[in-house]
Amino acid sequence: MRSLQKILYMNFDIITIFPDIIHSYASESILGRAQKKELIKIRTHNLRDFSGNKWGHVDDKPYGGGPGMILQVEPIYKCLKQIVGNAYMRSLHGAKNKLQKKTRVILMDPAGKKFDQRMAEKFSKLDNLVIISGRYEGFDARVYKFVDERVSVGDYVLAGGELPALVITEAVARLLPGVLGNEESLLNETFAKGVGSKEYGVKNNKNHNYSLLSTPYSLKEYPQYTRPENFMGLKVPNVLLSGNHRLVEKWRKEESK
Ligand code: SAM
Repeated sequence: MRSLQKILYMNFDIITIFPDIIHSYASESILGRAQKKELIKIRTHNLRDFSGNKWGHVDDKPYGGGPGMILQVEPIYKCLKQIVGNAYMRSLHGAKNKLQKKTRVILMDPAGKKFDQRMAEKFSKLDNLVIISGRYEGFDARVYKFVDERVSVGDYVLAGGELPALVITEAVARLLPGVLGNEESLLNETFAKGVGSKEYGVKNNKNHNYSLLSTPYSLKEYPQYTRPENFMGLKVPNVLLSGNHRLVEKWRKEESK
């Protein structure tokens, strides 16, 4: 039966010149299900719609010369303003009120702050995350004035910001209540903060009981096994077959150090 009370936890607004890349990935699996359940909304905004010219050009040659093309500041500014509104645009250069603190505008940039699980947890407390994907040689540097943060998904250069935007969207969305089939998996997995940490907390998630597990903080998940017990002489550790939950938990704690 469908629950009467639906909660939309988060909006993701992704600015891109390739919205189909986002649609294609985000309509499948976890992100697809979370959208169908209306726990999250993932909207794309085609930058070309804000080009101001009939050809949809949003890039131009760099001043001073150099290879490639640069994404122009004006279409990004206009698109962003339509998503977050004038007041938020002003707040980028001043103090934010309580509501504005629930929104964040991030720019995909290999030179930005490195994305990690802590950043994903921080973003999962927001109501709106706006993600700007670059292409070509990147952005006119004035775009940086209109974002809260520049974020990188790692020390390598991709052709565009769509994959980084999806990486961030998925890492954040799976922390939200109801998005994963089994939320207990969040507690023990690699980089997770377990119940021992006060920082761990999923918003509005009063009905979830995390006391079943007691991992205080794990950097890597313990090894897991499923059938068969013996594969070509590679055996499942005896402790996992013992049925002794205390010993299993002790072993897992040791293994995840
Ligand atoms: N010329 C830029 C430089 O040297 O930093 C690289 C531009 S890259 C080809 C085009 C766009 O892909 C970037 O503007 C950014 O939006 C995205 N991108 C590429 N690698 C990324 C990464 N590691 N993290 C986040 N975004 C990335």
